Amino acid sequence: MNYMLPMSAILVKKEQETPDICTLHLALGRERPFVFHFGQFNMLYLFGVGEVPISIMGWRDGHLMHTIRAVGHVTRPLSDLAEGSQIGLRGPFGHGWPLEQLEGRDLVFITAGLGCAPVVAAIHYAVRNKDKYGRIIILQGVKHHQDLLWQQQYDKWREVKDCQVLLAASRETQRKQRWRLGLVTGLLELAEFNPKHCTVMMCGPEMMMVSSLKYLADLNVPEEAIYMTLERNFQCGVGSCGHCQLGPYFVCKDGPVFHYPQIKQWFGLRGV
Ligand SMILES: Cc1cc2nc3c(=O)[nH]c(=O)nc-3n(C[C@H](O)[C@H](O)[C@H](O)COP(=O)(O)OP(=O)(O)OC[C@H]3O[C@@H](n4cnc5c(N)ncnc54)[C@H](O)[C@@H]3O)c2cc1C
Repeated sequence: MNYMLPMSAILVKKEQETPDICTLHLALGRERPFVFHFGQFNMLYLFGVGEVPISIMGWRDGHLMHTIRAVGHVTRPLSDLAEGSQIGLRGPFGHGWPLEQLEGRDLVFITAGLGCAPVVAAIHYAVRNKDKYGRIIILQGVKHHQDLLWQQQYDKWREVKDCQVLLAASRETQRKQRWRLGLVTGLLELAEFNPKHCTVMMCGPEMMMVSSLKYLADLNVPEEAIYMTLERNFQCGVGSCGHCQLGPYFVCKDGPVFHYPQIKQWFGLRGV
């Protein structure tokens, strides 16, 4: 199978989540089978414009979902596409979350901003298979409470037994019911999980993850229990362009989900 060859995908539905974030629902062509793991990403190709790595957000009604923030020369026109448009898609690429290996453990998801997108499918899976896991802790941080994507979904997770949902808004000035003012890391002191028997999965700005590591160390969560997904600007998705090198690793093919001890030496270093 040639992963450099894009397959076709039709935009069947677009949901505008916020003014600059939308979710694309894609019907895949039949060029080849498509099987993915939660946490993997695709390269989305807008013909004549360029390609960008975007995490797989989920799969619903036979359609693949990607949630995209319009930031630059590919993501803006991609977000402006009309339903019915065709794009190219390569993937899935990289390693996902090791959910099958985590049975019996408490799961702690720490995300900020659009960092919820690469994690949301893993949370859905864990909640659907709740009997296989211990407690499920979902911590999400945003700037303002109205920036939260999928509010109803978080409300539903809140109702699940042994599932704790905690939300933080860092730039809110007025206290809101069920919201904590401040950073997502501050929520860790409210989270109820067994630090000796948990696995943490993180996604968001790197400073948030660096800071979370310190909080987790204070809570005696072992480094071996921590996974994180990283973002780098790259072109190929298969370790050829070299733009996403991280020490001896490439984020595209050795990540984007990494076991923290694997990359500890290079993680959070400026310029790496
Ligand atoms: C594995 C992976 C998964 C991703 N998943 C998602 C996702 O689910 N949803 C989503 O919206 N985005 C995601 N991204 C980020 C997305 O790929 C970039 O936003 C996109 O490449 C920007 O391309 P552009 O051509 O539109 O912007 P450009 O015109 O290239 O850049 C616009 C601005 O964004 C900055 N920028 C571009 N790419 C990155 C980057 N990767 N990291 C930091 N700054 C960057 C540039 O420096 C510039 O300031 C992911 C990235 C990776 C590596």
